[in-house]
Amino acid sequence: MRILVINAGSSSLKYQLFRMEDQRVLAKGLCERIGIEGGRVIHKLDGRDKYQAMVDMPTHSAAMKVVSDLLTGHETGAVRSMSEIDAVGHRVVHGGEYFNESVVVDDKVISAIEECIPLAPLHNPPNLIGIRACSEILGSVPQVAVFDTAFHQTMPQMAYLYSLPYKYYEHMKVRRYGFHGTSHRYVACRAAEILGRDLSGLKLITCHMGNGSSLAAVKEGSSIDTSMGFTPLEGVPMGTRSGNIDPAIIKFIMEKDDITIDEVDKILNKKSGVLGISGVSSDFRDLDQAVENGNERARAALDVFCYSVKKYIGAYAAAMAGCDALIFTAGVGENNILIRERIASGLAYMGLELDEDKNRSANGECVISSGNSPGKILVIPTNEELVIATDTQRLATN
Ligand code: ADP
Repeated sequence: MRILVINAGSSSLKYQLFRMEDQRVLAKGLCERIGIEGGRVIHKLDGRDKYQAMVDMPTHSAAMKVVSDLLTGHETGAVRSMSEIDAVGHRVVHGGEYFNESVVVDDKVISAIEECIPLAPLHNPPNLIGIRACSEILGSVPQVAVFDTAFHQTMPQMAYLYSLPYKYYEHMKVRRYGFHGTSHRYVACRAAEILGRDLSGLKLITCHMGNGSSLAAVKEGSSIDTSMGFTPLEGVPMGTRSGNIDPAIIKFIMEKDDITIDEVDKILNKKSGVLGISGVSSDFRDLDQAVENGNERARAALDVFCYSVKKYIGAYAAAMAGCDALIFTAGVGENNILIRERIASGLAYMGLELDEDKNRSANGECVISSGNSPGKILVIPTNEELVIATDTQRLATN
């Protein structure tokens, strides 16, 4: 079975073609600058060199046509014809309260994704365009929507309700939704497999730390709390996003700096986080380098980040009355030894004892807690595309 996974952003479209029998990625790529001049496509066929080309793609449909030509091309192709593709899985960012799991796309599903546009105005529209572009190219091939928010729909009301006038929840659906759900779900399941335990008997804290970062408390296989909220702005500091701040700061800086609410929104989303504090970069590798060179603000940025993640770990252990395993994933979680060390050290009081040598030599999936640590600490590379492909296979063959 061949499954195409699509992740459509406002001006980009990422794709991976899976052969499900051995879960192999036959081809993958990225179309950039859709709808903007200077479009570019990067395509990689399994076992071959990268193919790159400049090609203008005025619409997502045009980008899908480029993808389809590449996937079937003489030099670049992984299939003889697009009819060999059995189903398409789409990453859809926001499913609101409509979806607590992945679904086969039909008219009702499309309407519900449309209704969630006000909750994710930058993400849901391109996701829908991606679905429509695939219908144009692939006809009636089954399509499945996999939502970033779905995994967190199991949160109890006490975790998702904000202490605002109730009408904002009731009439405007202002509540915690949480994101990165596909990643939290994947690493929680893998952790159970690696530990040889049943997910239903585990209390897990999953730390997805990339450009955007979020933590989740996963109890008996269900997300019971997560750090991102109504939008991905809440929670720990991120590359450029502020994470939690006192909401009163917004009025204060608007008045002092004489700026509009849109400018504040941009500051909180694009100019804050570790970039904002350090003034150096949103990339943790650059920050490590800057710290090595004695940059005090870069050091402060990393201090604030690690301290915030650590506080969430404590909070989630309290919420679940314990933690059997702490899991690190995504760009920073998988690769940044020092950040993992700073976050995971000093947690012996809650049964999590880091082995510094194992942490330093971690590579791929591994346990980095000491042999006699009651709770385990793991690094698990995330694979959201594989989850989307697997869900798509399951739903498309039902
Ligand atoms: P996104 O949220 O955009 O998917 P990633 O999960 O790729 O982002 O995370 C990006 C972050 O991961 C960057 O801050 C970068 O420093 C870090 N990172 C990615 N790869 C590496 C690596 N090989 N070594 C150290 N840090 C890395």
